[in-house]
Amino acid sequence: MKRIDNHLPTADLQRLDAAHHLHPFTNGAELAEKGARVITRADGVMLTDSEGVEILDGMAGLWCVNLGYGRKELAEVAAAQMAQLPYYNTFFQTTHPPVVALSARIAELAPGNLNHVFFAGSGSEANDTNIRLVRHYWALKGKPEKKTVISRKNAYHGSSMGSGSLGGMAGMHAQGGMPIPDITHIDQPYWYGEGGDMDPAEFGLARARALEAEIDRIGEDKVAAFIAEPIQGAGAVIIPPETYWPEIQRICDERDILLIADEVICGFGRTGNWFGSQTLGIRPDIMTIAKGLSSGYQPIGGSVLSDEVAEVISSDEFAHGYTYSGHPVACAVALENLRLLEEEKVIEHVRDTAAPYLAQKWREIGDHPMVGEARIIGMMGALEMSPDKANRAPFKAEKGTVGLRCRERCFANGLVMRHVGDTMIISPPLIMTPADIDLLFERVVKSLDETLAGLKSDGLW
Ligand code: PMP
Repeated sequence: MKRIDNHLPTADLQRLDAAHHLHPFTNGAELAEKGARVITRADGVMLTDSEGVEILDGMAGLWCVNLGYGRKELAEVAAAQMAQLPYYNTFFQTTHPPVVALSARIAELAPGNLNHVFFAGSGSEANDTNIRLVRHYWALKGKPEKKTVISRKNAYHGSSMGSGSLGGMAGMHAQGGMPIPDITHIDQPYWYGEGGDMDPAEFGLARARALEAEIDRIGEDKVAAFIAEPIQGAGAVIIPPETYWPEIQRICDERDILLIADEVICGFGRTGNWFGSQTLGIRPDIMTIAKGLSSGYQPIGGSVLSDEVAEVISSDEFAHGYTYSGHPVACAVALENLRLLEEEKVIEHVRDTAAPYLAQKWREIGDHPMVGEARIIGMMGALEMSPDKANRAPFKAEKGTVGLRCRERCFANGLVMRHVGDTMIISPPLIMTPADIDLLFERVVKSLDETLAGLKSDGLW
């Protein structure tokens, strides 16, 4: 296959990048000063930068490269599909083989009677679809006033006006006029940060019952749906107490509220099942999917609907769609990705090998003097850093200072790890071997040690 090697020297790339490229979620002035890290290739779990330095990708890109980098099969399928039918749409009563095959395959994999897919180009678009979809669903059922969507603080559902409004990120809501009307947010099931003196089980129930209280406040006849990630990802890998989801399910069932599980991160193996809903015992009416659907090799997302929801939506023209809904190349690549995940037993690998080993290592990291809590489920985990574990206390320095320092140490030690405030998070490719996990562990511990030494020498510990 043709190789693309002829890039400019790093300094030139950084200069042009600073001059012409606006980065997502980035302070451009700060970045321009230091210059972006340039990634030029990747293979398996390793990235290589423009200076030839290898970096272990502890985040699978943005939680998406489930199958790992460098899979020629996906490149070949993309090239073949581009040659045969690079684009056609699915508006106006047309379809094409890749979108048909992918829809049928998702219906097979999705739990329960989630058998119908509306495609989008990303998770954000799919969640925008969901807002319009649930409101239209209730309107078709003669209840147009049932349109409020309840979400959670510190949720992440995307960056467009609709999906960013569904999200509960205060920093995002501070810019650009979000949230849009008829979206509200309840408190999250974040025991480490907000549980106080309650035990986790009690706290999980209390946070689930906040949904019931919110439905009562708004009025059941005005609430369309509740949306949540089975495990909050960008919020800092928040694994709810075991009491949480069963109670949420009970409330949605009893109160005639649609339940949307945002599986953009949890889907396609990350928690050791095809979907996080299966791991956590959730029965959603709609699932949002993206990321791992194509292992990030092509931009594609979608909303997976139950028979009941799809039947109502199909009874009318849903005046909604994207140019790239069901893009043939993205669908062909996603289908091949799903084939490889199945054929290579990647989900079984997560469940039986990688996740148990990672969990064992994570428990060991929990004993590090910097770590207040080490939580993990499947292939996603968090380290809460604290100077006082017993009290789950924050640092003296401004929130995020220690997290940023730690992330910098990780980078210097050849590891991509993300920080949310002073919480370090990982979400590596699912194909990690025990040897990869050993290397990850070694680099995490080294980075924590160096962060601690730095805090001590700067009088911040
Ligand atoms: N939902 C969740 C749970 C996500 O984590 C993300 C992305 N991190 C999105 C939606 C948005 O997806 P995208 O960035 O593809 O629009």
